Amino acid sequence: MSELVALRRRLHQIPEVGLHLPQTQAAVLEALDGLPLEITLGDSLTSITAVLRGTKPTDDPRTVLLRADMDALPVREATGLDWASTNGNMHACGHDLHMSILVGAARELCARRDELAGDVVFMFQPGEESVDGASHMLAEGVLDAAGRRPDAAYALHVWAGMEPYGTFTTKPGTTMASHDVMRIRFVGQGGHGSAPHKANDPVPALAEMVLGTHTMVTRQFDAFEPVVITIGKLSAGEACNVIPESAELEASIRTFSPEARDKVVERLTRYAEGIAAAHGLAAEIDNPQSYPPTINDEAETEYVAQTITRELGAERHLRWTNSLTSSEDFSRVLLEVPGCFFGLSACPPDLDPATAPFNHSAYARFDDGVLDDGVRIFVALATGKLA
Ligand SMILES: [Zn+2]
Repeated sequence: MSELVALRRRLHQIPEVGLHLPQTQAAVLEALDGLPLEITLGDSLTSITAVLRGTKPTDDPRTVLLRADMDALPVREATGLDWASTNGNMHACGHDLHMSILVGAARELCARRDELAGDVVFMFQPGEESVDGASHMLAEGVLDAAGRRPDAAYALHVWAGMEPYGTFTTKPGTTMASHDVMRIRFVGQGGHGSAPHKANDPVPALAEMVLGTHTMVTRQFDAFEPVVITIGKLSAGEACNVIPESAELEASIRTFSPEARDKVVERLTRYAEGIAAAHGLAAEIDNPQSYPPTINDEAETEYVAQTITRELGAERHLRWTNSLTSSEDFSRVLLEVPGCFFGLSACPPDLDPATAPFNHSAYARFDDGVLDDGVRIFVALATGKLA
């Protein structure tokens, strides 16, 4: 087993969720140990920023940023793999592969630093899943880590299905949706389940809100301006014979333009307030998280596509025509630096990509045979820019 596969499987067994990933950070630091890197650790999160100074003489030094996210999901793994997670969380989005690929790229680029006319910033980022780790790292200065702004930034994401094993995917322009979270809480008056007229039950209002939201999307939005809303969390009450005082939902909202995003938030707010008023309830509305759409630079996307084709052959590259409805906080980096977020299928060859359990599934499997090709493309992107 290669060192990178061993690292990936070790990381896979210790998945941690959110912004604070102490075991994961320690494992990555150990893997980087001894390399000629300037390492800074995050304050508000367990990030690692590592800068490699190229030594090739140049009058025009450039900087390239490569990013890997580090966090896992609160999913109980059901793959049955020998090296499955041991702690109740799961690297169900493949970020364990991302970290291993970035470690591999760091090792190889360090070995070839005399070919680099400039610097590479390796951005190991916790908290991609819903807690916006990227904005923490931006606030702590990751874009200034090398002393000047990156000229280009790249990140890749592995998929457990969708495309055949080993296929790289790119799309210029919007490649992933925006993502907003909205929390809506109806507050009434609790009481005895036998006497609802003496209470003010928020549960029917919550039920109306769920159905009304999905109807609203079909009636108020252009069919050619995609809007995807999922209400994945409902909570109200503890016992069937007790009317709860409050009832709440959490919705995830995905759109492909700032206009559609603003309209969804405005309409959901209006709906919640209207339903609350009809039931004599109060509505508390919160929009705690908002990721912008992930927008790839046209020229950088072309550069990534050409690099994949040159290194691995045209049959390994697929140009996507549609965006994904998932979202990414690498979008924040791409608002500041031209770059490209691209995909790599790690779908196990024994599965049909169309039906393989996908990212975030407890059954999702990512084949770590793709690690070396991921490293190769990251290395080629950096050396090409810093030639
Ligand atoms: Zn992910």
